[in-house]
Amino acid sequence: MNEGILHCDMNGFYASVECKLNPALRDVPMAVSGDPRSRHGIILAKNEIAKKFGVVTAETIWQAKRKCPNLVLVPPSRGQYSHYSRLANEIYCRFTDRVEPFGIDESWLDVRGAYKLFGSGFEIAEKIRAIIKDELGLTVSVGVSFNKVFAKLGSDYKKPDATTLVSRENFKEILYGLPASSLLFVGKKTSQELRKLGILTIGDLAAADSGILTSKFGVHGTYLSLCARGEWKDEVAFFCSDNPAKSIGNSVTYPRDISGAVEFRQALLSLSEKVSGRLRSGGFVCKSVHIVIKDPQFNVITRQTSTPSPTNLADDLFETAYWLLTTSWDIDSPVRMLGISCSGLDAEENSQKQMSLLFDEEIELRKKRNMQKAIDECRSKFGSESIKRASVAFNSLKIDDLKIGSIFK
Ligand SMILES: [Mg+2]
Repeated sequence: MNEGILHCDMNGFYASVECKLNPALRDVPMAVSGDPRSRHGIILAKNEIAKKFGVVTAETIWQAKRKCPNLVLVPPSRGQYSHYSRLANEIYCRFTDRVEPFGIDESWLDVRGAYKLFGSGFEIAEKIRAIIKDELGLTVSVGVSFNKVFAKLGSDYKKPDATTLVSRENFKEILYGLPASSLLFVGKKTSQELRKLGILTIGDLAAADSGILTSKFGVHGTYLSLCARGEWKDEVAFFCSDNPAKSIGNSVTYPRDISGAVEFRQALLSLSEKVSGRLRSGGFVCKSVHIVIKDPQFNVITRQTSTPSPTNLADDLFETAYWLLTTSWDIDSPVRMLGISCSGLDAEENSQKQMSLLFDEEIELRKKRNMQKAIDECRSKFGSESIKRASVAFNSLKIDDLKIGSIFK
């Protein structure tokens, strides 16, 4: 009974919440959409009736109206979605403290420590489905498996309102015929490249030589190979309550979606500069780095990891953030918003006392710190624009001209 990782996915979340708030919407084709006059003017979610007319998520309002002229459009009630999302996560937390939200309507749970209290992973999934329906009036699909990636595929396998067990015995039978693109973080370009290698399904991916995948896709290739074989080891994070440890961070919503290594590097470098500057001016170092990625459909994911040692240097934040991004996101998939934040803050002077590095590393670190100090002094004397990295100064995104928002205080 090793299947204790659950992925819970609320069905048609935005539209279901709207229909719950206004039951008259249940009987008409309806969709939640952004503002028709702005870039947000796309379909964000639709109910089952609109789906029958062929309305799909992320198409423009204009395209949807052509298919379904009577489509009722509702602006997003973001506060309500957050409210129901929080209630759902509170329900998950009754079973385990390992609850990792993945966007507003999905969460992973690790319930391996709860078998004695609540039964097997499958039984817990069934209990959760019943409670969500009873208390929130919403439905959820749950995948139950032995790793996060397979649990996510499981929640997608049967919906709405279903539980799918993807076990060590049946995973090949259930998943290996699915297209490789259904795997988490396989975007359009990656699946086109895989197709060229003759890799069409998850089964093909599992059978492929992992060395070839790694040489073709770098670290993302290793990830793909391990995922397809059910060997990607990624723990479900502990649930962060509403009272997170103090953190400092910034995010940017780009005027157009960004993708590819060059743009991601520019974007993360610029954010790292900003955040590290705030850390230094506050006299802090951080022990962990988080990234936030929002895709064009407004799905949000967050990833986090510890830094090798406490730091407030832009290079360290950048390297950590870039590693997080490339191991958890298909580099060719578009991104609408990116954020970096740092937590595990400590006073800079404490960290310098604790430093016990090899001599060469210490010299290297001192050099980096001195350079950073010189840059900070230059900026405080002549303004923040006075000195920039060449890759940021000459970037096509004009990142420094954009408004960088603070995501954490
Ligand atoms: Mg969903």
